[in-house]
Amino acid sequence: ILISIVTFNACNKTKKINSSDDIIHSQADSILKTLTFKQKIGQLQQRIITKIDDDLKTEIKNGEVGSILVNLKVITNASIRNELQKIAVEDSKSGIPIIFGQDVIHGYKTMFPINLAQSCSWDTLAVKKAASIAAKEATTLGIDWTFAPMIDVSRDARWGRIAESYGEDTFLNSQFGVAAVKGFQGKDVSQPNKLVSCLKHYVGYGASIGGRDYQYTEISKRTLHETYLPPFKACVDAGALTVMSSFNDINGIPASANKETLKHILKNKWQFSGFVISDWDAVEQLIYHGYATDSTEAAYKAINAGIDIEMKSNTFKKLSEEKIDINILNDAVKRVLYVKLKKGLFKTPYVNENRSKKDVLTKEHKLFARKLASETMVLLENKNNILPIKNKPLTISVVGLFSKEQNLNGWWKSNSSPNDVINPYIGLLKNAPDNIQVLDKINNKTDIIIACVGEKHNTFGENHSRSNIELPNNQSKFISALKKHKKPIITVIFNGRPLNLTSEKESSDAILIAWHPGTETGNALADIIYGNVNPSAKLTTSFPAAIGHIPVFYNDRNSGRPKYDFYTKESCEPLYPFGYGLNYSTFEYQNIKISNKEISKNESITVSATITNTSNVNGTEIVQLYIQDVVGSTTRPVKELKGFKKLKLKAKESKTVKFTINTKDLLVLNQELNPVVESGQFNVWIAPNSNKGLKESFKIK
Ligand code: BGC
Repeated sequence: ILISIVTFNACNKTKKINSSDDIIHSQADSILKTLTFKQKIGQLQQRIITKIDDDLKTEIKNGEVGSILVNLKVITNASIRNELQKIAVEDSKSGIPIIFGQDVIHGYKTMFPINLAQSCSWDTLAVKKAASIAAKEATTLGIDWTFAPMIDVSRDARWGRIAESYGEDTFLNSQFGVAAVKGFQGKDVSQPNKLVSCLKHYVGYGASIGGRDYQYTEISKRTLHETYLPPFKACVDAGALTVMSSFNDINGIPASANKETLKHILKNKWQFSGFVISDWDAVEQLIYHGYATDSTEAAYKAINAGIDIEMKSNTFKKLSEEKIDINILNDAVKRVLYVKLKKGLFKTPYVNENRSKKDVLTKEHKLFARKLASETMVLLENKNNILPIKNKPLTISVVGLFSKEQNLNGWWKSNSSPNDVINPYIGLLKNAPDNIQVLDKINNKTDIIIACVGEKHNTFGENHSRSNIELPNNQSKFISALKKHKKPIITVIFNGRPLNLTSEKESSDAILIAWHPGTETGNALADIIYGNVNPSAKLTTSFPAAIGHIPVFYNDRNSGRPKYDFYTKESCEPLYPFGYGLNYSTFEYQNIKISNKEISKNESITVSATITNTSNVNGTEIVQLYIQDVVGSTTRPVKELKGFKKLKLKAKESKTVKFTINTKDLLVLNQELNPVVESGQFNVWIAPNSNKGLKESFKIK
């Protein structure tokens, strides 16, 4: 949208002064006019490079390479990147800089926990900071653009990519998506330490049928608009400059050739002015979907639907000047130029080659990674307050497949090395208080067993769905077998998805979900185990009690027969619900108050409750606000998260937490899918998790 500021000039006449965005749009228009058809097509192609040879250099010189996906084995330093950029800027006829993209997902060299873990911190500022550090590190190599954040609402534990998402809830994916965009792009994305962000995967990829990666989706219009689109809308509004279309088809139309989602919703309705890139080879893949007979047809279908750049495939080369609608082509190219101008690539095409030594893996970055990792570990069980281990002379034995695992940087490792990871055993050893002895085996001195188990980094993530969500490699049996030692067992799980922990719940005295925590794994784990950090994380994805229950998520809708079993003599209750997590402190929720019992449609309302830390340890409680529209023009979810607060409470301290509910929080889509506030009764909960809480209700007139 063009924003204009109206001011008065010296003669007191009204004059329109263009905002910087206006100027960028007109610059893009002027550059566009200078381009030939071939040069325009060049701007719409992203090259995947496996080597730098004369062919590549010639292509760049001919203006055929608008963008490069940085292969870290080929572009190993900033000077190589600058050299390629020099050909584009100084030796090609169009002189348009290349935009260099890469998957900088949860860190670059300093690795933060996987994104699913990050969301369990319920800390948007921390997620923003992690993204800004990742941007600072990745730009040292000359990366301009990251394919992140992934804001696919994910409700299927089998789907490997659930690890990359911010969990099962639409509101949380919006909140964390916006935080990440702000962290990557900053206030001024043209700064040398900022990255252009890319919202992915547009749209509905998380609904891939059966949790099978790349599969088609069946998403009703209502679910698309209520569940899958809002995070993208929120991030577009927050200024995200690019969007990636997804692999899946949506109700029969592939997302990478879907005019409704790309053109009508994203570009027209939301007025998104950046560009859309297809996912890897997704334009060519229209042929396998059975949506295009050949790559020429695929190219037309994609660009006509709203794809601006194709990743990897080369189909746009088949577009002909005579047949393509020139307005569609120009619009695509203009969007690419707009983003390149916003990133400042025309003014500053080259990057400083000396930044890398001082700006990556710094002490400050590692300290923050340690703090964030400890903020993301979720304590699920703590029988007899076995944790934290402190103030007693003890011997602990750290065992299990993951006790010395270094590969804890998740699926997207960016430019990190497992050698930089502090493994669990080393972390527990080096940080042990004087009275605690740490062993890497069990012997007759052992007082407590720490069983480190989990999923390897290549058993989740893209193309790594599982048809079973128990711990792999017989690790559940391994934990059960430890019971023969008759010592307390603390199970620490390094996982990338919700797991069925029925067996671990029975065999363990404590369960800590550590996820894949990144560089500072061992140190962060030690902070929790020895009680230097009181765990506060809560789940953002339900942990199912059986694989057959999937999908399990908290904001289901009621059936007409809620008293009946979902399965014979079986409910569908998750083993650990959304929003759940223990703390070394205990909290009591009391005294819910509502400012009004009846309001009109444009009024807001406040709800408050008193939360008390009833323990002797200082702690942080994540307080959640849920709403239910009890009777509507369509059936509504049993609960919807509408807010949360992270409350620091000293031992025995009480605080009142207050939430304001505005009309926008109560909007629902009516039968025509228009957003409206409906009259009737609403329930509201101030809650420690999605399964509990203090309840009040109010009416809208
Ligand atoms: C993934 C994207 C990723 C792209 C580039 C694709 O296979 O689906 O998430 O950004 O590859 O690496």
